[in-house]
Amino acid sequence: MPKYELVLFKNMAQSGYTGSFTDYKKTGGYTAFEKVLKQGAPASIIDEVKKSGLRGRGGAGFPTGLKWSFIPKDHAGPRYLCCNADESEPGTYKDRQLMERDPHQMLEGMAICCYAIGAATAYIYIRGEFDLGAEILENAIAEAYKAKVIGKDIFGSGFNLDIYVHRGAGAYICGEETALLESIEGKRGKPRIKPPFPAIHGLYQEPTVINNVETLANVPHIINRGADWFASIGIGKSTGTRIFGVSGQVNRPGNYEVPMGVTIREMIYDIAGGIRGNKKLKAFIPGGASAPMMKPEHLDTPLDFESIKEAGSMLGSGAITVMDEDTCIVWAAMNLMEFFHHESCGQCTPCREGSGWVLQILRRIEEGHGREGDVDQLLDLCQRIEGKTVCAFGEAEIGPIVSSIKHFRAEFEQHIGEKGCPFHPDAALSMAH
Ligand code: SF4
Repeated sequence: MPKYELVLFKNMAQSGYTGSFTDYKKTGGYTAFEKVLKQGAPASIIDEVKKSGLRGRGGAGFPTGLKWSFIPKDHAGPRYLCCNADESEPGTYKDRQLMERDPHQMLEGMAICCYAIGAATAYIYIRGEFDLGAEILENAIAEAYKAKVIGKDIFGSGFNLDIYVHRGAGAYICGEETALLESIEGKRGKPRIKPPFPAIHGLYQEPTVINNVETLANVPHIINRGADWFASIGIGKSTGTRIFGVSGQVNRPGNYEVPMGVTIREMIYDIAGGIRGNKKLKAFIPGGASAPMMKPEHLDTPLDFESIKEAGSMLGSGAITVMDEDTCIVWAAMNLMEFFHHESCGQCTPCREGSGWVLQILRRIEEGHGREGDVDQLLDLCQRIEGKTVCAFGEAEIGPIVSSIKHFRAEFEQHIGEKGCPFHPDAALSMAH
């Protein structure tokens, strides 16, 4: 692989870097925010972010500058920024590292966004289980107030900004942007029907931008080094670097920042050290639990939004889960569906009930009680969920099931025909509970 420059991990790669305000300042921290406040042209910041090609790093990959531009300019009431730090997608752990190791990078990105959209209040909605991350953010915010880079009349510009940490309570669905808003408002975290979109009716029905941690952490670098520099990294419409979290059966699991467009082969074999025990690769998930599975024949696909989509999956949260030749695909699909069934908010019948029915069938196939016709029944159920739910969770939960059947149907049929799991002969016993 050619050498490349770290952007988001650059500070934390320096020995002795603590992520404190003092350390961040030494690396040029908050100069981007000071620069935009002194220039005083919010519209030009939005244009710069648009020009950079930055796209959301949480899952959907929506263009960030475009999202900011949807906030109505003539709105008389408050506007808000919500930083989505509810990182809960299985296999995804990059935002946690960004928040715990370099919190001011994200805070500066939030401050620039708030100035660009005219928001004086921002929330960080952080996953409930991230105790350490929440504590570090609270401390970083206190440091930022003390240093007067947030608060009242920042850098003498007249611009005011307050940032609050709001802790979730452990529900995956609160990472869905409208469920996140409901949760901040003190309600049960249930996705809203869209439209209206949050840019018009968001938090407390006011215009709101919701951006992921990694997305916002990129913003100071775009302001400091320019949109053209950012757009020169990556490939096609997928610009910049991306943090991929590689987990599963690889020799060196971890978070890796690379330019968009490296291939999956480079990521698994060069960067993550290849498959553990020199086993063969069987399948992988390229973008978090909701991304459809892919096979070794897809190894040369570049990791960018378009290429992964063309290959039948999605870049999603950038979590790559690797499965070796000893992995039972039925078990893997069942494991994923257990998660999704548990996390369904229950608002829509196809998602709430359908996920349970799919799980029951997968369990019986894995336990050796599968019936003829079960595979088609699974596909039929998935088809009855797809496109019939309030939020994209419906599509997310069926992605791994439909793709695993598409690529490994024979393995499902083998479980049914042999009345048991060829990988886990004692599956029925181990699953009895
Ligand atoms: Fe809730 Fe599932 Fe409906 Fe989304 S699709 S609103 S998670 S029940």
